[in-house]
Amino acid sequence: MAGLNERKKVERELQLKKLNKFIEDSRNEFKSILSVLGWTSESLEVVQKEKIVACPLDSGHRLPASSLSRHTEFCKWFKAGYTREEM
Ligand SMILES: [Zn+2]
Repeated sequence: MAGLNERKKVERELQLKKLNKFIEDSRNEFKSILSVLGWTSESLEVVQKEKIVACPLDSGHRLPASSLSRHTEFCKWFKAGYTREEM
């Protein structure tokens, strides 16, 4: 049975390696997206610290104050029963 456990261990290590690679790739992709947009992770933090407000049409919706007008526009249509495709 030692052989089986050994194989499981190897498999697990392989999966762990794949996972680490995936995380690393995602991180790099994230960085390149940020640089394309001209953002830094610091500027993202600023966005995250932005005031969060409730949607006037649905208090269950929470969003950054700066997106409120855009959200309200969409939300109005959603409430009227339209889907994103129909807009
Ligand atoms: Zn809303």
